[in-house]
Amino acid sequence: MSRCLLCENSTEIDSWRAFFGAKPPPLCEACLSTLKKISGPSCKICARPMEKEAVCPDCLAWRKSTFVTNASLYHYNDAMQALIARFKYRGDYALADIFAQDIRTAAQKAACDLVCAVPLAPSRLAERRFNQSEALIERAGLTGMPLLARKESDKQSKKSRKERVGSRQTFYPIGDAAGKSVLLIDDIYTTGATIRLAADALEEAGAHSVKSITVARSGS
Ligand SMILES: [Zn+2]
Ligand SMILES: [Zn+2]
Repeated sequence: MSRCLLCENSTEIDSWRAFFGAKPPPLCEACLSTLKKISGPSCKICARPMEKEAVCPDCLAWRKSTFVTNASLYHYNDAMQALIARFKYRGDYALADIFAQDIRTAAQKAACDLVCAVPLAPSRLAERRFNQSEALIERAGLTGMPLLARKESDKQSKKSRKERVGSRQTFYPIGDAAGKSVLLIDDIYTTGATIRLAADALEEAGAHSVKSITVARSGS
């Protein structure tokens, strides 16, 4: 029996659909309905939901903020938080399937020359054996290019929001991005520090422009 990856209730589908090769969904309908897509007015640069279409204060304050623009798909609510935690720390590739179609559509819209995963620091990758960003790219049927690597650093999650906004560069370019537009894919957009630092490293590699698609956007 197939079970929902979040609540573990059964997600069995009609036997006739299964007969025709339909795979049971990774989430039950109740869990799926708790994920909320972002719609309505948002910041033109970072996709933060706003009262009206504008540029948010964080983006206004950020140097060179127009070099990178972000699109986020879902609100980072409790359900999304549980889903992403499970995805990241347990390496359930099946969870990346939930977002595959949305990412594919957003990537088509972004129309960049190259797609690149946000890399993990070597020790983090060794510990997790899984880069969620690469999984999202792979399951969306896109081809990622290794354009960036990441130095070892203190755990981002242990820092305060203010510290993260002022983070030192941890990414460096390893591939040829000269003259290209690059699409970064990642799971969560919080302060945007990670995406901006990755974009800076791509700019250093000569990238023409950078866009990002993040599955979830925290509201703060
Ligand atoms: Zn469920
Ligand atoms: Zn913004």
